[in-house]
Amino acid sequence: MFTNAGMNQFKDFFLNNAISPNKRVADTQKCLRVTGKHNDLEDVGIDSYHHTMFEMLGNWSFGDYFKQEAIDWAWELLTEVYGIDKDRIYATVFVGDAEDFLKADSEAYEMWKAYLPEERILFFDRKDNFWEMGEQGPCGPCSEIHIDLRSDEERKAVSGGELVNMDHPQVIEIWNLVFIQFNRKADGKLEDLPEKHIDTGMGFERLCMALQGKTSNYDTDVFSEYIKDLEAASGLKYTGKYDGSSKSDIAMRVIVDHIRAVCFAIADGEMPSNTGAGYVIRRILRRAVRYYYSFLDIKEPLMYKLVNRLSNDFENVFPELKAQQDFVTQVVREEEKSFLNTLSDGLKRIEQLNLSDNCISGAEAFLLYDTYGFPIDLTKLIASERGWNIDEKGFEMALNVQRNRARNDARRSTSDWTESNDGNVRFVGYDTLEVKDAKVLKYRTV
Ligand code: ATP
Ligand code: MG
Ligand code: MG
Ligand code: MG
Repeated sequence: MFTNAGMNQFKDFFLNNAISPNKRVADTQKCLRVTGKHNDLEDVGIDSYHHTMFEMLGNWSFGDYFKQEAIDWAWELLTEVYGIDKDRIYATVFVGDAEDFLKADSEAYEMWKAYLPEERILFFDRKDNFWEMGEQGPCGPCSEIHIDLRSDEERKAVSGGELVNMDHPQVIEIWNLVFIQFNRKADGKLEDLPEKHIDTGMGFERLCMALQGKTSNYDTDVFSEYIKDLEAASGLKYTGKYDGSSKSDIAMRVIVDHIRAVCFAIADGEMPSNTGAGYVIRRILRRAVRYYYSFLDIKEPLMYKLVNRLSNDFENVFPELKAQQDFVTQVVREEEKSFLNTLSDGLKRIEQLNLSDNCISGAEAFLLYDTYGFPIDLTKLIASERGWNIDEKGFEMALNVQRNRARNDARRSTSDWTESNDGNVRFVGYDTLEVKDAKVLKYRTV
């Protein structure tokens, strides 16, 4: 549904279906990881470095330079240009995979050895060190670069020296160098690509964290001003805790994250709606609304007020937001307003549930969805906060019953349009939204 990595746009070049006008490219790509194989939504706000929308910086070689240059230049950029301390850098290398008859990437290992002591070059399996976009397509082993962001004192205090387990929350993956040399075919087998390519992806917000000497992306200037806006709006202080003890901290992080995903998606033409990608955007927005409603005690639309800062911040990078600022602001505000209309009643309903088995039934979850506009993942989140489960199968069944009924009504629902085949249409007006300069307005009710 969304671009989830910098390489998506270049797939045809990697597969030789098209020829890139340039053999070398560097870019920043807006990415969203909220659906499918790469879904980071539930980590957002809980940890300090996963976002829904982030910028993936990349450098690319389409049949031009390969592994050696990619590693040399990554090292040069991080240590010489950006001045990151060499002792804080780790590299990972692909360990091989019996199923695909692949050996360890000893080439990459030898190349890293020119820069790093052996104990900071670690081998990992396909889960971390083999990159594929989907079931099929270009793929290959990768080397990831991680940075140890712990303070000097903390590093010294660890027994066994400064080395640390890669799972440590302050040892952060910042850059992935993918050596695209295979194509995964429909039967699952790998074939060599006619030409080898380089695909790298570095999280811009994580890079900022490393360069600004912070230990959370939210403490960098990419996010900190928005957090201050929320402190001012709520009268609450942001304390930067990650142990789960401060719900308002989590809420602030979630909101400043989600506003970016929502705004850029709208600016790129994906309107919040009840189906497909539009529903993903609506879900993200509603999730944020519930966070400020419940944990910042704000009961009025809030997020639309952040659009101005966002469009100014990105004016020179992604000008499409500034160009549609009024439109995006209005869409966000209307979305917030409409959900706030039903949110409190829905929450009250959950409050009053008398569950014998700590499980929200499918019928109840469906009612929350249908009558109060609660996306299922929001109900799930609220349930999990209370230690409850939710009968998702039952919900799906109820949803299907409704869908079938709608189908039997001889109506076809395509995205936001409802087309009626029965010739018996009564126009009852548009669904809110009166926007100047709107590019396309699909909202209407028949
Ligand atoms: P992680 O293991 O931290 O989830 P990843 O291995 O899934 O990251 P890649 O697919 O290798 O990430 O993407 C390349 C780079 O993009 C990462 O090294 C990281 O800097 C950045 N990145 C990935 N996911 C996110 C995210 N959800 N938010 C911010 N940056 C991200
Ligand atoms: Mg990930
Ligand atoms: Mg990773
Ligand atoms: Mg990675």
